[in-house]
Amino acid sequence: MIPKKSAMNPQFLQQEAIRLGATDSKVINAKDIPIEDAIVEMCRPPACDSYGTCANCPPFVMTPKEARIWISHFDKGIFFKIDLEPELLFSERQFRPFERIFRIASQLEQRSKELGWKHSWTLAAGSCKPVFCPDAPCEALIDGGKCRFPDLARPSMEAIGINVFRLAGKVGWSIHRITRAADPKQIPSAMLAGIVLICTGNNLNDPQRQIFEKIKQNK
Ligand code: SF4
Repeated sequence: MIPKKSAMNPQFLQQEAIRLGATDSKVINAKDIPIEDAIVEMCRPPACDSYGTCANCPPFVMTPKEARIWISHFDKGIFFKIDLEPELLFSERQFRPFERIFRIASQLEQRSKELGWKHSWTLAAGSCKPVFCPDAPCEALIDGGKCRFPDLARPSMEAIGINVFRLAGKVGWSIHRITRAADPKQIPSAMLAGIVLICTGNNLNDPQRQIFEKIKQNK
């Protein structure tokens, strides 16, 4: 149950993120989210095997150019993270923290809609393919198919061009680049982050509406 006095208050969602298991969360202005064309290149193999295999990964998600239009519709973002041991990302349990991000993000998006921000949308960390569909083709890429987990699966922030490193730096979070070739013992700390975007206006202009419709068609 959402307390009435919290209605239309992004700080409520910030606290909710912590309650749902985030290590920290910040309310940010959506206009401060850095989007760069080059970030999407990080989604290509060999950095990530999910490129082109999942409806929530490039090249099937909105481009950075579209993302700039889309994000201009939002006022605020609830940027949240979980801290974790670097070794976990190199273990057979490596996708569990990603699943936590998807689940926190999904619940925050739902809370945000309950608060009245009906166009709230979430971006997570990593690809939903190894987390939810490791042994099956992406159903949403099959003609007439739909995502098996429409309430949980979302693109990552990087997939649409958000520079998570810069954004984390802006809010004062320590973040280190981690590659498959890295030695986990040499990595000082690790974190994964997600974001819930909210717009208090609930009005879309035509380009924003077209992008929202495109997103929903994948679900
Ligand atoms: S069906 Fe959904 S959860 Fe599975 S890979 Fe495709 S988009 Fe991701």
